[in-house]
Amino acid sequence: MEIVLRCSSCDASYDGVVPRWQCHCGGYLDLSHDVIINRQEILSGPNNIWRYRNCLPLDPDASIITLGEGMTPLLNIKGFFGKAKIKADYLMPTGSYKDRGSALMLSQLKAWGVEKIIEDSSGNAGASVAAYSSVAKIDADVYIPAYTSAGKALQIGLYGANLIKVEGTREATTKAALEAAVSTFYASHNWSPWFVHGVKTLAYELWEQLGFQAPESVIVPVGNGSLVLGLAQGFSELLFKGEIKKLPKIYAVQTAACDPLTRAFDQGLDTAVPVIKEETVAEGIVSAEPVKARGILQAVRRSGGSIISVEEAEILKSLKELIKLGFYVEPTSAVVAAALLQLRRKGIISAEAQPVLELTGSGLKATDKLLEYFKF
Ligand SMILES: *Cc1c(COP(=O)(O)O)cnc(C)c1O
Ligand SMILES: [Zn+2]
Repeated sequence: MEIVLRCSSCDASYDGVVPRWQCHCGGYLDLSHDVIINRQEILSGPNNIWRYRNCLPLDPDASIITLGEGMTPLLNIKGFFGKAKIKADYLMPTGSYKDRGSALMLSQLKAWGVEKIIEDSSGNAGASVAAYSSVAKIDADVYIPAYTSAGKALQIGLYGANLIKVEGTREATTKAALEAAVSTFYASHNWSPWFVHGVKTLAYELWEQLGFQAPESVIVPVGNGSLVLGLAQGFSELLFKGEIKKLPKIYAVQTAACDPLTRAFDQGLDTAVPVIKEETVAEGIVSAEPVKARGILQAVRRSGGSIISVEEAEILKSLKELIKLGFYVEPTSAVVAAALLQLRRKGIISAEAQPVLELTGSGLKATDKLLEYFKF
């Protein structure tokens, strides 16, 4: 399989033969490869992301590391936000959509023969990478901020990863991980292009579940951008192969407590605007310095969508309402419902439209966080 890694900053390129997570210039790497889309083959494949194996950058002879992730339900719902399609990615093996990316990333790490990795995460990616590393029998050091939900920390530890808690900000955690990564491979979900290609299966699934058609629009949370970039990658491939006629609009949602991308979008800039973070219930999208800001802004603009922010009170209200509808998600996931209310109020999404709401993470691991806001 021919894989080309191209630097987003200096245009250097590499093949995917040796383990690498960054360009020599410090830029992040985008990945391109040959995609084969065969509907019959997909329909007869396993009931998980590996039905799209020929659309993924992994050697055909490589073994896959899997927990049966993917093919989560897509439901037509009429709720407090009006009509929408709910994509229930919070029902993944480790409780978040991150499993799409981890399954492919760990399969590639295994194919490379990497024996030990470092990851840093605000929680869900750490849990996901810990689980798939355990399956792959790869040793994992997972760095998390000390403030991470106890449920997520427990999950990471129980999967058998070495858990390192770092005091201070999310950025301090990344810094500590990078220092350790001098001697150990840095398998960061925020840097690995394989992670993004795993997440692109979300686009393929939506296309298939809608009868091989593109949705009109998709609303996703955005912190470091793997959902935005994964969707953009998947839909671009489908468009290029003539499987869809136009790109769905991507609406990406930040919390107003930390929204460097919304500010950049509103100001027409192509890099993130520095912000001072405030307290937020949406811990999964707190990223003051998203590495791939340029790519995220470009992808959203190209899709015809936008990046918007929602307030804490709106997030909590939407969370309660979502759970009442039966969707037991974590607070971060509720930003998409709050965003849909806002987009309808502003007339950007019509009452008849049925946007996809991507529900990213399970409420079951955020119990301690939820208890700060709700009591029974
Ligand atoms: C990671 C995560 C997000 C945000 O994904 P990014 O790749 O950082 O944009 C949203 N929701 C949940 C539950 C997450 O774990
Ligand atoms: Zn470079």
